[in-house]
Amino acid sequence: MAKMRRKGDLPTKTCAHCGRPMTWRKAWARNWDSVIYCSDRCRAAAKKERSTATA
Ligand SMILES: [Zn+2]
Repeated sequence: MAKMRRKGDLPTKTCAHCGRPMTWRKAWARNWDSVIYCSDRCRAAAKKERSTATA
């Protein structure tokens, strides 16, 4: 029996900042493990929050 492969079988993650689910993108293929934010905006916002939180 052939191996079944679904078309929408891409890995997903939850953004560490906004908590929204994000789907694997080809641009993230190389660094998927290190991607934790869905967008540059979230990354910048999280960084900003973190830098102001630590005083
Ligand atoms: Zn996000």
